[in-house]
Amino acid sequence: MKKYKHLYFDLDRTLWDFETNSYETLLDIFCKYNLQKSIENKDVFIEAYRYHNKKLWEDYGLGKIKKKELITKRFLVTLEDFDINLDSLPDMAKQMGIDYITISPTKTKIFPYTHEALSYLKERYKLYVLTNGFRQVQITKLKNCNLEQYFTKLICSEDAGTQKPKPEIFRYALKTVNAKKIESIMIGDDMNVDILGAKKVGVDQVFFNPQKTIHDENPTFEINSLIQLLDIFD
Ligand SMILES: [Mg+2]
Repeated sequence: MKKYKHLYFDLDRTLWDFETNSYETLLDIFCKYNLQKSIENKDVFIEAYRYHNKKLWEDYGLGKIKKKELITKRFLVTLEDFDINLDSLPDMAKQMGIDYITISPTKTKIFPYTHEALSYLKERYKLYVLTNGFRQVQITKLKNCNLEQYFTKLICSEDAGTQKPKPEIFRYALKTVNAKKIESIMIGDDMNVDILGAKKVGVDQVFFNPQKTIHDENPTFEINSLIQLLDIFD
């Protein structure tokens, strides 16, 4: 589709398989800290972590807590769910938080056809990453997965001072690379954050929906495999 020049990609759950990589990281942490001594099984731990992590990310998005606090607290409140009576619990949670952000970006599971789609698109369009993740973490992921080569620029919410789906971050993303919104398109997995966020500022969207979730929205395009990007952007 020749009207587009600028393609903005979300990273987590769009290219980088967040669920698998996060699961592997939490398993590593579960083993490293011998949590099997106190917690009946790994999946109970992981489920509790995910529950608290989601809530804390909402608080972070609302500006209620800082990044540093989020990193530790998601482990502290998870551990507090289990009867682990240790004076060293806060220190342990702090170290786990550091481990998580150190180990997780080194995991390299990406969605099928990521390289095929990006190498094809790179020859024809300007590609950017537009993510709510932390800059240093996202850079490490891109490098380890060998994805850095495809992108002209990595744009993080930290740089924009605001997060998707806020209109300001999309405007920032356009302005920083001198892109017109009519020539731009957002590709992402999150209906609210990526798709409705882009739509609100008049930027077209590709909804990546690998689970084929039912919804009532009307994105410009919808795909369930990244290989379909080759049909849209021929
Ligand atoms: Mg995402």
